[in-house]
Amino acid sequence: MQLDDAPQSDNVEDRRGMKRAGLAVGGGAGILLAILGLVFGLDTNKLAGPQGDGDDKGGQKGGKKGQPPADGYKEFASKVLGLTEEVWVEQFKTNGYGAYKKPKMVLFSEAVDTKGCGSAPSSVGPFYCPADDTVYLDPTFFTELEEKLGGSKGDFSQAYVIGHEVGHHVQNLPGYSARTDAKRKKPQENEYSIRLELQADYLAGVWAHHAEKKRKILEKGDIEEALKTARAIGDNRIQEKMRGKSHPESFNHGTDRQRYASFMNGFDTGDASKRKLMLYFDEDATPFDRTTGELRNRELFGK
Ligand SMILES: [Zn+2]
Repeated sequence: MQLDDAPQSDNVEDRRGMKRAGLAVGGGAGILLAILGLVFGLDTNKLAGPQGDGDDKGGQKGGKKGQPPADGYKEFASKVLGLTEEVWVEQFKTNGYGAYKKPKMVLFSEAVDTKGCGSAPSSVGPFYCPADDTVYLDPTFFTELEEKLGGSKGDFSQAYVIGHEVGHHVQNLPGYSARTDAKRKKPQENEYSIRLELQADYLAGVWAHHAEKKRKILEKGDIEEALKTARAIGDNRIQEKMRGKSHPESFNHGTDRQRYASFMNGFDTGDASKRKLMLYFDEDATPFDRTTGELRNRELFGK
C-alpha cells in the first residue's frame, strides 16, 4: 500500500500496553476456539457481558502503567481510517444518505472495554460496536490470521479488514440502514448475519475502489493479499480447519467464494447506491440457499 498522500484521521485512540481493570480473560484452548469460531468477530451485538458494562467502568483504567508500542501502527490505522472517512463522506453525499458520521477506532492489546457492547478479549478478532460507533482492533490479530488461518498480514489485507468493520458502521447509519429495513422481514439469525457480513465485504470493496481512484493507494499484490484473507475467513474454510468439515447450517459470515466475490464486486463497481446495497437484503432478488449456506444473485456473486 502507498499511503504517503493519505489523510490522517483524528479518531484513532491507541490503548495498547495499557492496563485495564476487570474482566478475566480465559486462556489456552478457549482463546484458540474463539479465534477460529469468531474471526471477524462479534461485530454487532454478540459480545459477552451485560450491555452497559463499559459505561460502568468508565473505559480504561490505570492507563499510566504502560505505553503503546512505537511501531507506527497508529499512523497506519489513522491513514486507513482517514481514507475511509474521505470516501464515505463523499459517497454519502452523492448517494443522498445525508451527512456521514465518522466512527472511532480503538487499538488495544489483550482485551478491551467498550461503551455499550461489554468487554471482549483479543481472540474475538476485530469488531465494530454500534453502541459507541467504534471499531476495535488488536493488530496482533493479523499474525494469527496469517499463521493459523492461512490469511495475509499484508498491509492491504489489514486495510480490507478495517474497511469491513467500517462497513458495519456504514450499515448502521441513518440514511442508509440495512439493519432496520432487514429486521422487518425477520429472517433467521444466521441468514441475516450472512447478509450483513457479505454486504460489509462489499462495502470494503467499494471503499477500496474510491480510495484507489482518489489516492492511488494500491501496489502490486495488494488486492491478492485482501482476497487471500477474504477466502481464509470464509465460514467453510474456518470450519474445515476447526472441525474437519463444514456445516452450512451454522454459517454466519458467508463462504470463501462469496466473501471473495463480494469484495471484488464492490471493488470493480464502486457502487454505493441504495438499489445495489439493498440487494443484499432483498429475499426475492437474493434468496438464501440453506443447503449450501449461500446467497444467490448473479449481479452480486457472478452466479
Ligand atoms: Zn463483520
